[in-house]
Amino acid sequence: MSFSGDVKNELCGVEPKKDCCLRAECYGAWLFSRCFSAKESAFVTESGPVARRMLELAAAGAGVSGELAYAFSRQKKPLYRVTLPEAGQRERLLAAFGHQAGRPGLRINRAALENECCTAAFLRGAFLTCGACTDPQKEYHLEFAVPHSTLANSLYTLLGEVEVLSAPPAIAPRKSGYVVYWKDGGQIEDLLTFLGAQQASMALMQVRMYKDARNDINRKANFETANMDKTYSAAARQVAAIAALSDAGRLGALPQELQDLAATRLEHPEMTLRELSAALGISRSGVNHRLRRLLELGERELQNR
Ligand SMILES: [Zn+2]
Repeated sequence: MSFSGDVKNELCGVEPKKDCCLRAECYGAWLFSRCFSAKESAFVTESGPVARRMLELAAAGAGVSGELAYAFSRQKKPLYRVTLPEAGQRERLLAAFGHQAGRPGLRINRAALENECCTAAFLRGAFLTCGACTDPQKEYHLEFAVPHSTLANSLYTLLGEVEVLSAPPAIAPRKSGYVVYWKDGGQIEDLLTFLGAQQASMALMQVRMYKDARNDINRKANFETANMDKTYSAAARQVAAIAALSDAGRLGALPQELQDLAATRLEHPEMTLRELSAALGISRSGVNHRLRRLLELGERELQNR
């Protein structure tokens, strides 16, 4: 089962607490089903729970009765076909939420959302028939796919007003209409909770925590590797310079303090400045200064070869 399927199954198990919310869920589900129309059309889904929920909502929320048929897709997956075969039932569904047949520019009739509590139920219904959520292991993406621009825009506005969400969705045209979507894991998590999919929200939260922890570890590892590389490459240059001085027989002519440092560095190319400073009992800036002096002399020797 896909992550979307899990979310929808969970949402189908939510019992609206009030009648107003039940009507709102019915409205959301049918309005975004692509068959909220006086013309006969069918809502086709791979999800049995969603198909049954559509019919329950139509009956309980609008007093409308529909039909359920079964078929198989070309990939031999079961398909559920929800229809309202009687014209009278279709008109009744439209009228229940203040819509008239044949009016262009379908949009959300805010008057049909009776109370503030109804927004979550309405959006839950909408998600059941036009929503999708990608497996968070792959990517953070939750979308509502909407056929018409006016309907997509009114959904975009409504989602932007939801208080538990701190950022509005994005909206973009797609081949068969528009998508209203989020790519932010935190927003998707909050929206799933708002819709009533607590388990899916928790699953998403766990993925996010794991990903964050892994990113932290990677960031730290990268940082440490970069620092190590710096130490090693600086030490390699110093060793090459000291070796050049030694080859030219000049090491013994250097001041004792430089000779001591050169010997320690040759023996311990892995030592950091701090470690050299501790080993020789001189300050770090002293070590730094002397290393620079050795480097200068050695690299001049290398150039002269
Ligand atoms: Zn309500």
